[in-house]
Amino acid sequence: MTEMDARLIEEAKKVREFAHSPYSKIKIGAAVLAQSGRIYRGCNIENAVYSLTNCAERTAIFSALAAGEEQLTALAIVSDTARPVPPCGACRQVMAEFHIQRVIMANLAGESKEMDLEELLPYSFDAQDL
Ligand code: ZN
Repeated sequence: MTEMDARLIEEAKKVREFAHSPYSKIKIGAAVLAQSGRIYRGCNIENAVYSLTNCAERTAIFSALAAGEEQLTALAIVSDTARPVPPCGACRQVMAEFHIQRVIMANLAGESKEMDLEELLPYSFDAQDL
């Protein structure tokens, strides 16, 4: 794990405290690294209409994009779960859209796992399929 990976995990850990998750009770934080060197954070935001819930990963990615970033390189996810929690399918597809290559998953117990997006989402749909 690189020093930047550790920093991403720390930022994800901090932002998970802002999660709005009265239904699932799970608090997840994410931090994405842009090519510029800046880090953008996101947490899960649930809604009484469950389908309107937004995952921490997408909140972080959308925050980076809204700040004008175009190149995103790595993303860390932190949860208080038995195993480091993997991103859902929707978030994997959004990560593919913005070419995020590395995903670092960690839990509060200090366990972590790193995977390439290609491992998480093989044979993904992309713009060439349109
Ligand atoms: Zn997700």
